Amino acid sequence: MTTVIGFDIGGTKLGIGVGDESGKIFGMTKIDNVNTDPNDILPLMVSEARRLCAEAGVKVSECPAFGISAPFPADALRGIMTEPPNNPKWRNVPILSYLQNELKIPGCFENDANCGALAEWFFGAGRNCRDFIYLTMSTGIGGGLVCANQLVRGGKALSAGELGHICLQLDGRQCNCGQKGCYEAYCGGRALALRMQAELKDKPDSMIMQLVNGDVEKIDMIALEKAVRANDPYALALWDEMALRNAQAFGLFINAFNPEKLILGTMAWAIGDLFTDPILKNLPRFCWDEPREACQIVSSELRRNIGAYAGIAAALNYLKEH
Ligand SMILES: [Zn+2]
Repeated sequence: MTTVIGFDIGGTKLGIGVGDESGKIFGMTKIDNVNTDPNDILPLMVSEARRLCAEAGVKVSECPAFGISAPFPADALRGIMTEPPNNPKWRNVPILSYLQNELKIPGCFENDANCGALAEWFFGAGRNCRDFIYLTMSTGIGGGLVCANQLVRGGKALSAGELGHICLQLDGRQCNCGQKGCYEAYCGGRALALRMQAELKDKPDSMIMQLVNGDVEKIDMIALEKAVRANDPYALALWDEMALRNAQAFGLFINAFNPEKLILGTMAWAIGDLFTDPILKNLPRFCWDEPREACQIVSSELRRNIGAYAGIAAALNYLKEH
């Protein structure tokens, strides 16, 4: 068995794990990453990785690789965290070269949505697939593409798989990325929450406002889901629109890539059939029958544990590619 080290860098927690290709995790830990200074955190990542390896009975030098799952924007080619949105003190941090120098083993740096796809590929719903698409679907919408048994990174920008930012509507809703009409602007959890907050702030009698006790900033996907289940007309109309936009995007992906599977992240498994059924009903409008019938639409198998496998899967994929 090949034992590797994985790092999963989140905005609030930083996960470190040691595991192998069978999916066994020998040890893992999380360190707090809110408002941290990389000068404190980088040495801690190294010492924690060494400790976990020692506890697992392996030498760091016996691990053939480590992998870093990191939020974007970043300089993926050189492994530099340029400006992670939730960590203001992390600016132009050359994390890949730092860890390579300290751990003295090869490593790789991948964006977290790609790592999600790799984790599902090695350990989850993407096992034994040659072609599949993973969609993160939580606050934002990210994607990871595996085509012909290979993670697709794209060209110089390494931005392949940015599936949340395909344009679904000319001059449509403003997206966080600067474009208008992006898929994420219609179906991302953050975009939907902001939209409901703007539309309901002067409507204290609306069901959703009552569900959050009038605290407009508390309006989120959970409040929306509750209102849909209670047949609130505003919530139902928004849900239908979301399902139609999700179907439009899925149809584009299915016709473009003919994937064996479309693996869906948080929203799909947290909400269940209420989320996926109306999308499936609308889907035939947006893609051909043959690739649609050939594509299984499923929830993530790793669910909330996906981060534990993200860096480990990145390391295993690095070994596969080298
Ligand atoms: Zn966008």
